[in-house]
Amino acid sequence: MIRRPTRSVSIGPFTIGSEHPIRVQSMTNTPPQNVAETMTQIRQLYEAQCEIIRLSIPNRQAILSLQKIQRQLQNDKIPIALVADVHFSPSIALACIPFAHKVRINPGNFNENFTAFTELIRSAKREGTAIRIGVNGGSLSKKILEKYGNGGEAMYQSTLPFLEIADAEGFNQMVLSFKASDVGATVTHHREILPKLDQRGFNFPLHLGLTEAGDGVYGRIKSAIAMGSLLLDGMGDTVRVSLTENPVQEIAVAYDILQACGKRFHRAEYIACPSCGRTQFDIQSVFAAIKEKTAHLVGIKIAVMGCMVNGLGEMGDADFGYVGAGPGKVNLYRRNQCVKTNIPEQNAVTELLKIIEASRIS
Ligand code: SF4
Repeated sequence: MIRRPTRSVSIGPFTIGSEHPIRVQSMTNTPPQNVAETMTQIRQLYEAQCEIIRLSIPNRQAILSLQKIQRQLQNDKIPIALVADVHFSPSIALACIPFAHKVRINPGNFNENFTAFTELIRSAKREGTAIRIGVNGGSLSKKILEKYGNGGEAMYQSTLPFLEIADAEGFNQMVLSFKASDVGATVTHHREILPKLDQRGFNFPLHLGLTEAGDGVYGRIKSAIAMGSLLLDGMGDTVRVSLTENPVQEIAVAYDILQACGKRFHRAEYIACPSCGRTQFDIQSVFAAIKEKTAHLVGIKIAVMGCMVNGLGEMGDADFGYVGAGPGKVNLYRRNQCVKTNIPEQNAVTELLKIIEASRIS
């Protein structure tokens, strides 16, 4: 699984692209004119480890808010990348350039105003601001829809003139995104579009997201399938999980998707069997206790298995193992080696933690 090679793009405290960690993004949902409320949400997102925060800038008043928020983030030394999300108005996009690390425009809503886009690119180049060409399947221009329909080719053609202008202007701080609300369409479109852009030398970093995923378990499943498929294809340099919930909830989901795809690790990794009639201890409470004590150990993998029937085979690549050995008894493993046998169940979690701690010291 090779990561799609991209150029590097600087957005505030981060550089994104294939040489760098995949960054986690979210978007505020507070009224943009309410700076205090928006700052509170940005702080909550930052504490949840959001790295890139996007704000809607629908009008002139919101530009003033953006300016104040940029100043507060600088004063409070909060290392988060600030992105202005602009639709419809090239003049608003232009006005945001000095106050954001990146400005996102939607080519479908830019009304093919290529003169304004050239001005935007020149200003971005002067100020060191990145630009995201963020295509949404639901807001392609009428002309593109009539000519190419509503698929990957339409998204590709919608992006191309903007990238050609940026290229002609010698501007390479561009980011791409191609979003849709349908999981299958999102995956198919990316697989169609990105190779064509890369072939033309437009190998810019890619922001991944599934729009309107909804909420709860189903919203998370849809996001995980769409983004997971593309991440496993090697695509994606930033991710945003879009949930119809408090945006703070999006961050842990994004990190878990990255971890499940083996792309970025933010906590220990676990393998645990579902248990069955052979399990002779309370695996749910044991697993919960082990996770509580070890989640901070980024980079290690712990297996919790109900018995030996499939135990060793299934946990082959784990660093440590907790395996049921009989009624009330547990065997503990380091790699594939059984290092303690028949430990009474009530002591086994503590003994496992000792083995982990000793391995980390030695
Ligand atoms: S590892 Fe053992 S206890 Fe767990 S599900 Fe498999 S057979 Fe059942």
